[in-house]
Amino acid sequence: MGSEKVEAIVNAKLPLTDEGQRLWTIVFNSERIAAVIPQNDFVRPESKSVWDAKGCPVLPGFIDAHMHPISMGLKKLRLDLSQVRSLHQLLQVVQDTVSRVPRSLSHFLIGYDWDESLFEDEQRYPTRWDLDKVAPDFPVALRRIDGHLWVVNTKALQIMNLPEDHPFAFKTQGQLNGLIADEAIRFLQPFVEPTLDEKCEALRIASQIALEHGVTTMADLFADLEVYENAVKSGDLMTRFVCCVPTATAQQLKAPLNWSIDKERCEAKFVKLFLDGSIGAHTAAMREPYADMPSEPGRLILRDRTAEGLMLELNDMGWSLAIHAIGDLAIDQAIEAFRFVRMEGKRFLRHRLEHIEVLRPEHIGWMRRLCLVASMQPNFVIRWQQKGGLYEVRLGWERAKQMNPFASVLKANVPLAFGSDGMPFGPIYGIVGALMHPEPNERLSLHQALLAYTQGAAFACRIENQVGTIAPGKLADIVVLSHLPDEQVFADEWQSVQVVATFVSGEPKFLQDE
Ligand SMILES: [Zn+2]
Repeated sequence: MGSEKVEAIVNAKLPLTDEGQRLWTIVFNSERIAAVIPQNDFVRPESKSVWDAKGCPVLPGFIDAHMHPISMGLKKLRLDLSQVRSLHQLLQVVQDTVSRVPRSLSHFLIGYDWDESLFEDEQRYPTRWDLDKVAPDFPVALRRIDGHLWVVNTKALQIMNLPEDHPFAFKTQGQLNGLIADEAIRFLQPFVEPTLDEKCEALRIASQIALEHGVTTMADLFADLEVYENAVKSGDLMTRFVCCVPTATAQQLKAPLNWSIDKERCEAKFVKLFLDGSIGAHTAAMREPYADMPSEPGRLILRDRTAEGLMLELNDMGWSLAIHAIGDLAIDQAIEAFRFVRMEGKRFLRHRLEHIEVLRPEHIGWMRRLCLVASMQPNFVIRWQQKGGLYEVRLGWERAKQMNPFASVLKANVPLAFGSDGMPFGPIYGIVGALMHPEPNERLSLHQALLAYTQGAAFACRIENQVGTIAPGKLADIVVLSHLPDEQVFADEWQSVQVVATFVSGEPKFLQDE
């Protein structure tokens, strides 16, 4: 890996600032950008080590505004189910693993990222009875791609001590079927929680994967600060991180400034609050019930009063809030709570709403008035919001096609940030979703989508003074792409777009040719 400091990038096209075809030189001064000058005006001094972009598009390093880097890394260390395409195959993988790896009763087999909407045989959730067929003797716990639903087998249920009547433990004909969501997951947590060493290794793997995708900053939306403290000490962080911590951590720390390890590499500024679950798990809280489960409108996790009180307390401590709200009912609750905080709070910080997939026009108006940032995931659109996809099954096409209204958000001047939530990770893939929205009026231009994954994401993470644009004074975090296809063909040709180089603080941390 070439990590020799570069002093300038020459022959760069800058599609975000210059729509012409001119070439530019970006001059670095140590880890920052010193100047951006037309190529013709650049006189190369003898001593300077320059890197030639050869006319490729050069962008600010991508910023993933909503990620779970440790989960991404852990998948490489545990069972990765993201490529499984049938229920049969899922069970086969479990059976193979159980027979290959010696197991004990206390040692759960843990898998990540199954997605029944991609199953080609039966598009349904696996149950404990399915798992019992292939793993009757040892505990198994497999997490759905959205992280809001797990399926466990009977052995695991016996060990977990989950109350029979827990509202987030699902039943079939009066019996627990092994599917557990949100609040019930804490009964499973002690058995699936990775060790500190595993998490540190996972974070290191994640930052390597990020560089390969041109991502130079990730916001960790449920950050375990102990892992970051260790990683910073051992020098393992190759990218930047913005930490969004659980409520308990925030209350313990009191103010965000009470935790700082290496301000430029890693900061804790946000606190995460969940108001609902996910559409895939039928737990996103909706005004109207699900089309494929008419008895189920999803569930709010907190009572209105609890949400308001917590949000006010954290706001007054100086924490920016990142509020997970997917269904329209959860977004209603979030807006109401923010109105309360705005009225009652000592001050009102820059807060963000996460996902907001079932966003209504009135919500957008309120977001504008309350200066809330929209943190959204265009990859969900390509993955689940196309005709015949999971969202249509869950909500019917009328509701499904109106979800994720990116263009309306921008039109209302609500700041828009893109992230992947790791489903899957990668800005180039995600951007396709913004261009291919099923509702043509809600499509973004390639330019707008790139801005949401750079400048917009920097604003959402409150690091826009440091990164997110290629401008003098900013940290030299830069990605060089092979090319950017014409907007009309981008969706077809995105796979041909390669990351050529990724620079962090002016150092080439990833080079395609190496
Ligand atoms: Zn998330």
